[in-house]
Amino acid sequence: MKLTKPQKLIYDMEKIIGGPVAVMCGIMTVDKVCPEEKVVEAIKKVYETNDALNYRLDDSGSEPQMYYKSPESREVKVVRVNDISELDEIGKEAARTPFDINGWLSDLTAVIYPEGYGMLIKVHHLLGDAWSMSLCCTQMNAFLDGNQSVRYSYENYINSENEYLESKRYARDRQFFLDSFGKCGEPVLLSDSHSADYRVEKLQKSLTPQLRSAISNYAKKTDISEYICLLGAFSVLYGKLKNCAEAFFIGTPVLNRTSEKDMNTVGIFVNTIPVPVFLDYDKSFFENLQQTHNSVFSSFKHQKFNYNDILEAIGEEYGYQGKLYDCVVNYQPDEILSEQKMRSTDYSHVVQSENLHLFIHNRNREDNLTLEYDYRCSVFSAEEIERFHSMFIRVLKLLLTNDKQALKDISVIDEEGEKLLDSFNDTAAAYDKTKSVYDLFAQQAEKTPDKTALVAADRTLSYAELKDEAAHLAKGLVENGIKKGDIVAFSLPRDSRILVSMLGIMQAGAAYLPLDLSQPKDRIEYILKDSEARLCINEENYASLISDEAPDMPVPVNSEDLCYCIYTSGSTGMPKGTLLTQGNVMNYVGGSDKHIGKIIGSEWKTILSVTSVGFDIFVTESLLPLANGKSIVLADEMQSSLGDHLCKLLQKHTIDVIQTTPSKMQAFLQSMEDKSCFESVKSIVLGGETLNKSLVEQLKSLTGAKIYNVYGPTETTVWVTVAEVEDSENITIGKPIANTQIYIVDKYLKPVPIGVTGELCVAGDNVGQGYLNRPELTKEKFVDNPFGEGKLYKTGDLAYFREDGNIVFIGRNDFQVKINGQRIELGEIEAALMEIEGIESAAVIVKQEDDRQLLCAFYTGKEIPSTELRSLLGKTLPRYMVPQAFMHLDEMPLNTSGKTDRKRFTQQNVESVSNEYKAPETEEEKLLVSTAKEVLKAEKIGMLDNFFDLGGDSLKSIAWISLLEKQGYTLLPNDIFTCA
Ligand code: AMP
Ligand code: MG
Repeated sequence: MKLTKPQKLIYDMEKIIGGPVAVMCGIMTVDKVCPEEKVVEAIKKVYETNDALNYRLDDSGSEPQMYYKSPESREVKVVRVNDISELDEIGKEAARTPFDINGWLSDLTAVIYPEGYGMLIKVHHLLGDAWSMSLCCTQMNAFLDGNQSVRYSYENYINSENEYLESKRYARDRQFFLDSFGKCGEPVLLSDSHSADYRVEKLQKSLTPQLRSAISNYAKKTDISEYICLLGAFSVLYGKLKNCAEAFFIGTPVLNRTSEKDMNTVGIFVNTIPVPVFLDYDKSFFENLQQTHNSVFSSFKHQKFNYNDILEAIGEEYGYQGKLYDCVVNYQPDEILSEQKMRSTDYSHVVQSENLHLFIHNRNREDNLTLEYDYRCSVFSAEEIERFHSMFIRVLKLLLTNDKQALKDISVIDEEGEKLLDSFNDTAAAYDKTKSVYDLFAQQAEKTPDKTALVAADRTLSYAELKDEAAHLAKGLVENGIKKGDIVAFSLPRDSRILVSMLGIMQAGAAYLPLDLSQPKDRIEYILKDSEARLCINEENYASLISDEAPDMPVPVNSEDLCYCIYTSGSTGMPKGTLLTQGNVMNYVGGSDKHIGKIIGSEWKTILSVTSVGFDIFVTESLLPLANGKSIVLADEMQSSLGDHLCKLLQKHTIDVIQTTPSKMQAFLQSMEDKSCFESVKSIVLGGETLNKSLVEQLKSLTGAKIYNVYGPTETTVWVTVAEVEDSENITIGKPIANTQIYIVDKYLKPVPIGVTGELCVAGDNVGQGYLNRPELTKEKFVDNPFGEGKLYKTGDLAYFREDGNIVFIGRNDFQVKINGQRIELGEIEAALMEIEGIESAAVIVKQEDDRQLLCAFYTGKEIPSTELRSLLGKTLPRYMVPQAFMHLDEMPLNTSGKTDRKRFTQQNVESVSNEYKAPETEEEKLLVSTAKEVLKAEKIGMLDNFFDLGGDSLKSIAWISLLEKQGYTLLPNDIFTCA
């Protein structure tokens, strides 16, 4: 006999998970003395009555088969104990021991203890379910009482099942589950863990009598069953823990025994059906409960349809592969057992496939409700489950006391949890709010005029010299009509004029707008126009802007006045300007222990500046040191790109602090022969993108410097959290800095519990003013702070709080990405693609390939050569935003909700394009090709190929430059960008 589908599912599951996953095991005891022979006799009859217990498996062929073997020869073992409590260990041991798959798959053992008798039942899930186990107990007791039991054959049931597979009902059931998947969309699982360890731990909790009776009263009052009330509360908690998910599945075991005959047949009938839960957070608890009630009952009507068939159908119709639920809620009324005077303990579930299995034992007899959480210990910790339970109780109580409340207003965190979260944000620290950033610099210049402020490639300036030149520039700006509140841009090479410009602009009461020289001309023009910058300081006009005169006093500004404006990628197609005020920057450069400058080392004197001026983190390397009397060593373009050049600079000057992005640090290390130059550095500050373990380990092996992971969006002034990374296994973004609050919230801005992922939001003195001329976007991202004063900035980053208050960064909730430390909105690239004539739709994704990320574009419409696309995009987008690969499609794949199905793309292979081959001829061409091959790890490269087409990116270009340099050729990163 072939295995049925549910049996095949169990057979496969056992193969995959292994161990005792398919062992069902329990002990039934009755406190009534009974002779051993009689017990053994009764058990023999149980074997004879139920054919299911006597099937064996032959899996020697291509498909496993079941065959019947007469039970005549079966021996019944007897276990004798002196104390009933000894049975517990025996039961557990039996549950831990898997069956020999080719031996008997059921084992009934007589149990004798001084006060009574019992039976240890162990069956393979292939042959029985929990109901079957109770049925065996009932039968045994009937035999002992001298009664007979009807005999139903499991084989007959299996045969009748085949009829179902051909029936109209089967087709209707199938359609029902397809429809519910269509409405639910891709499943939201409680945990996304992919652990291959299926071991289970259990947590048992009894409800208090008050809560227990409150539940029954509520159930009576509303005419909704206790089970649905509990499932409803569970669903609300589930949704809240998954960022207010509106639809998800919960596994619900069903008996699947619909007739008297089924009820009396041993065998596997049980099925777990995915019940779709739909939550409407604007609606009340009660309304949602009714919805859940309806959903459960309509699903139950289709309970015959096997879960495996559901998955198969969904795979066929929607192309979705994977499970629908990872949580099962199992309501166990023990009515049949309670009719008899027997006690039973279930020892099954030593391993299980679902992440959490909640048993609700309704012991009517004892008037007791017990919750048993069987959880995979590789997925959840004991503390997490404890916390889950206490939140579940909280939600239950809220439901019972106020079921009119809208779900969105419910917080699953209790008072104690709130207090703890509050304590993480205890960051108040004093700084001088009456001064401007320029004032702080001027003060330092008064105090230590001769101290070196800046060492740059062109010259070294003392505080007094820097102040003096900045003053002449400020005067020049004023003479050119610059007034307080204006925006003044600068676009200069990496030398002292950058610092002079920043200070001069501020002294004139204006705000600065830094422009990176490497951006395309069109983009710079757009930014200058969009920002309405009054002037752009550049190489041509710099000298002429230095006035002969110098004002004594800066133009007075206050904390609301603008300090700088920085452009970042914009999702709707154009970059957007972010505005930061004097107050924001004053807090950032403030000098207390809770401010960033002290956190990264209170004793430092010199900082190395290597980051791009167009990036807000440049503030850490410019205004922060100048406001605190430190010295800056400004790396020029080569030094800030190539490891070996940087190394020389580090050896020449004593540098205490270096700040950069992890990608850039990686690139430095790769292009550096002598890595000892970091030895004397005291602090290495890394931020702007995810910091990975291997970089931390690499750095730790090179230097004793403290390593910091810092986090912050441009919108909230450089960095808002900081962690000292001591353990590479445990990287967090740390805790908020001075006068900063971090809230991790759900969609409705309600804080989520510790350990639960939500959106990271920032409040406090560093929250900027918003976006220039983008009131709608500003309103959307900077909302009124529901937890205190001012605004709350919604970062779009996903994170969670650890128990100790450190924050773990998870990723983004939108299509903003970081590639090599550069902030990119995929929407901006898509919009630029769609501007190209002939392109109808476009989608851009990031593909992880080995150790790097590739931008891949998919588009429909006219097919255009990649080189052409690249050069068209290069006119408006910065180099790092131009995709490495392009793929033409006939149509965009859509997901169930009709949106572009990005997941499909990640499975697609994208190939970099190659051109017609032209061999290198001159020595120099040969050198170019051979070095490019090495960097790109490519077999064949010709003179017509494009560095970026072949997978090159800004980091690879640095590696290429440094190889060429060793051969005596100098190439600047910009050269590659402009000629590639
Ligand atoms: P930006 O405005 O360029 O500073 O980019 C801000 C974004 O970079 C944040 O919203 C995060 O997505 C990401 N980011 C910044 N710092 C970190 C960090 N330490 N770890 C992970 N992601 C970071
Ligand atoms: Mg930042």
